[in-house]
Amino acid sequence: MRRKITYIIISVCMLLVIGGCSEKEVAPVIKDKNIVGKEDNKQEQYNKSKEEKVDNREENGVEEENIEKEIIEVKTIVIDPGHSSVGNFEKEQISPDSIKMKPKDVLGATGDYTKVPEYKTTVSIGSLLKEELESKGYNVIMTKTEESESLSNIDRATIANESKADLVVRIHADSSEDHSVKGASALIPVKNQYTDNICEASKNYGEQIINTYTNELNIKNRGTISRDDMTGFNWSKVPVVILEMGFLSNKEEDNFISNTENHERIAKAISKGIYKCFE
Ligand SMILES: [Zn+2]
Repeated sequence: MRRKITYIIISVCMLLVIGGCSEKEVAPVIKDKNIVGKEDNKQEQYNKSKEEKVDNREENGVEEENIEKEIIEVKTIVIDPGHSSVGNFEKEQISPDSIKMKPKDVLGATGDYTKVPEYKTTVSIGSLLKEELESKGYNVIMTKTEESESLSNIDRATIANESKADLVVRIHADSSEDHSVKGASALIPVKNQYTDNICEASKNYGEQIINTYTNELNIKNRGTISRDDMTGFNWSKVPVVILEMGFLSNKEEDNFISNTENHERIAKAISKGIYKCFE
């Protein structure tokens, strides 16, 4: 009987010991499995994030290259809205070293039918042109933004020269005593000792702008006209074009150009010509 009890006690103890050991052995395996699992996940996540980082770096690399490319290719356009509400009749040299003088900022034309002064229209269209060009990534500098702001023609040229503009577009409208005269033209510098470096580019840009502008708006195309008497041309070191948008002395053109409702369309037509210059 004692042997039996002793046997039973020993058996129970052994079972407990075995049970305990097996529990201890099983537990780490499960634990290890979890750890391995987690590490696998971690490894996967690490690899994944590394790949993502590489991808991002590649994308960023491409982006950086593009930004660099864009910066290199960004064109600077100076928009010069003609005239002002006050004008300036002091005189300035028509060209460097010249004895010829011209008023600094003459008053522009006024619509014969609408009675809207040219300076209102040039500032309005110039501002809209700026917005349009900037929406396409151009760097735009305005010589003036207020109707009352009066700048001399040398001042206007100096702003463009200092900004190293790729192109200066000077916004104007024509006038004639003959009300039947109509159409738009692009004035460009004649080849002389001051404009030698800019006359060819100015001619090319002037042609693009006037052809596109007149096509877009169905206005008569008077072409490019070379001038040697423009102070703003003779002092310019960068390509420059004066766009005469039409005649404020012609009923049809005055009604179209002086009406602010058409200014966005007109600005877009000018911008399309500018885009063509740099295609
Ligand atoms: Zn003008």
